[in-house]
Amino acid sequence: MANVFTIDGGGDKFAYASVKNGKVILLKTFHSPTSIDGLKGQILKVAHGGLKKYDGMGIAIAGVVQNNETIIQSPNLHWLDTINLKEWSQNAFGIKCWVTNDLEAAGIGELKEGELQGVRCGIIDTISTGLGGCTIIRIPGAKEVVIPGEPGHMVNFGLQGPLCGCGKFGCNEARYSGGAIRRRVKQLFGDQIPSGMDPCRFLDQEADKGRPWALQLYKEVGEGIGLGWANTLNRNGWIEKIVYMGKFGVYGMKHMRPHIEEVIQIGAMFSHHKDISIVQSSLWPNGAHIGAAAIFEEHEV
Ligand SMILES: [Zn+2]
Repeated sequence: MANVFTIDGGGDKFAYASVKNGKVILLKTFHSPTSIDGLKGQILKVAHGGLKKYDGMGIAIAGVVQNNETIIQSPNLHWLDTINLKEWSQNAFGIKCWVTNDLEAAGIGELKEGELQGVRCGIIDTISTGLGGCTIIRIPGAKEVVIPGEPGHMVNFGLQGPLCGCGKFGCNEARYSGGAIRRRVKQLFGDQIPSGMDPCRFLDQEADKGRPWALQLYKEVGEGIGLGWANTLNRNGWIEKIVYMGKFGVYGMKHMRPHIEEVIQIGAMFSHHKDISIVQSSLWPNGAHIGAAAIFEEHEV
């Protein structure tokens, strides 16, 4: 089996790991770089100057990826827009590299070793700085398929809604993502948030204390996420399970779950969807590393 250097790059953090036989060893996590040179610097720091001991690199990025090579657009990492990371890593490090969308990578991880094992059709969504997701389908006798999606950029508020990082107005991500809520909480309670504390953690603390504003905000987000999922379920009757991950979703689910479930009860048309299983990824935050390594091996091993 190959020894693959993997990167899971999101709007907040870039995590670096090595993956061999599906085993992930996390090496280092940094705040997201702000330029391609910054990315190179982080890789060199983690790999102590060399990547020679690895068979190659698998990169998972929050954004639209073409041909497992090029980032078409990354709403929270615009410096990656239009960059061919496969060529770049070949030139910068002399190492083979394959690129995939971070949620697609997480979906592959989940169907190989996580909550989507044995599931015919399921979705995996991240509720994080951004909102992302993909669909997996498994047909007996055929190869499993991961269908990429951009559920965070479904427009649910009409084209006059809030401005999104992707440049459109009215996207789900612009209202219900951890990034959107972070901005909102900061705007409302900036002076009350202890310095250095993530506004989303302040929200969690306040919700745990039963503060009405915090519970109301989680109700709003839960209903928004539930509506997005209900629409997705009505589009695809095969879906049997919803897997979620991402810090904002994992930390906030206890407050959001009743509202999500209520909206799905009302909104879902298929009777088997009314009480669909909604579970936290058992691989989070490592699932995308497993998928990124699997994509590399699929092409190179
Ligand atoms: Zn958008």
